[in-house]
Amino acid sequence: MELLSPRTLDEAYRALMTDEARCLAGGQSLVAMMNLGLVSPSLLVSLRHIESLRGIYLNPDGSVRLGAMTTHAELAELDLPGAAVSLLASAARVVAYPAVRMQGTLGGSIAHADPAADYPVVLTAAEATIEIGSARGTRFVKAGDFFRGVFETALQQGEIVVAVVLPPVVAHAGAAYEKLSVVAGDFAIVSVAAIVAATAQVAIGGCGPKPLFACNLAVTDDALLTVGRRLAEESDPPSDQRASAAYRRRVIPALMRRAVRAAQARR
Ligand SMILES: Cc1cc2nc3c(=O)[nH]c(=O)nc-3n(C[C@H](O)[C@H](O)[C@H](O)COP(=O)(O)OP(=O)(O)OC[C@H]3O[C@@H](n4cnc5c(N)ncnc54)[C@H](O)[C@@H]3O)c2cc1C
Repeated sequence: MELLSPRTLDEAYRALMTDEARCLAGGQSLVAMMNLGLVSPSLLVSLRHIESLRGIYLNPDGSVRLGAMTTHAELAELDLPGAAVSLLASAARVVAYPAVRMQGTLGGSIAHADPAADYPVVLTAAEATIEIGSARGTRFVKAGDFFRGVFETALQQGEIVVAVVLPPVVAHAGAAYEKLSVVAGDFAIVSVAAIVAATAQVAIGGCGPKPLFACNLAVTDDALLTVGRRLAEESDPPSDQRASAAYRRRVIPALMRRAVRAAQARR
């Protein structure tokens, strides 16, 4: 196996035109998969030295652009205005534990697209946009369309997640992320990301191949319970060593209500 460490995106794009080439970001998921023999790329293209994949910028329109190589630890320290930013920072603080947070990256996590991971849920709730680059050019995909299934995204052969763009700040909005896990630092059994302004928008993670999303929700107990029950019915959760599918379905309405109420309190 060969390892390349390009300095520019164009070099990386050229290297990724090779069949069996794969990006290496923080290595926290990819190296484990290689050790288990699940993947065996002939070429690893390290993204570590590509400066344009780093940096966090507040755009003039109030949107925030986060380079794909931003680490979980950097995201956990984000200090910019807006509900979407605080939602992402809350999620980053509960990804794994410090050693993983120092190495793992935003781009690596969303490209990996584990249904129990934290960022797919918060980026879907925040209606973030994913910037994707390749030798063919740049395209932008809404988070709701980016996550396609279990470890499956809209990324095509040779494409790199370049950045994530969070939408401009909404006045008087609050956000909260509720993650139910067996122990702190583990993947979620169920997670809920909520943003509340005049109405609520939520995404549910860990309960199917991709996050479930609902918006324009009235913030009353009755409405939240109804929507929570509907989402639980629509969900397709796994049964695994962490919890049964029935348990996951059962906790969705209560966890959703808790996230929405916490977001409302932060408005
Ligand atoms: C013990 C442990 C606990 C964990 N707990 C959690 C948790 O609680 N919550 C959670 O969300 N995650 C958790 N993770 C996963 C962690 O967040 C990883 O950091 C993340 O999934 C992968 O990010 P990475 O930068 O390490 O990517 P890598 O492992 O380097 O790459 C992962 C995949 O993404 C591809 N890739 C990487 N970067 C890009 C890019 N920019 N564009 C296109 N493709 C790319 C790679 O080719 C590979 O297929 C845990 C991991 C470990 C080891």
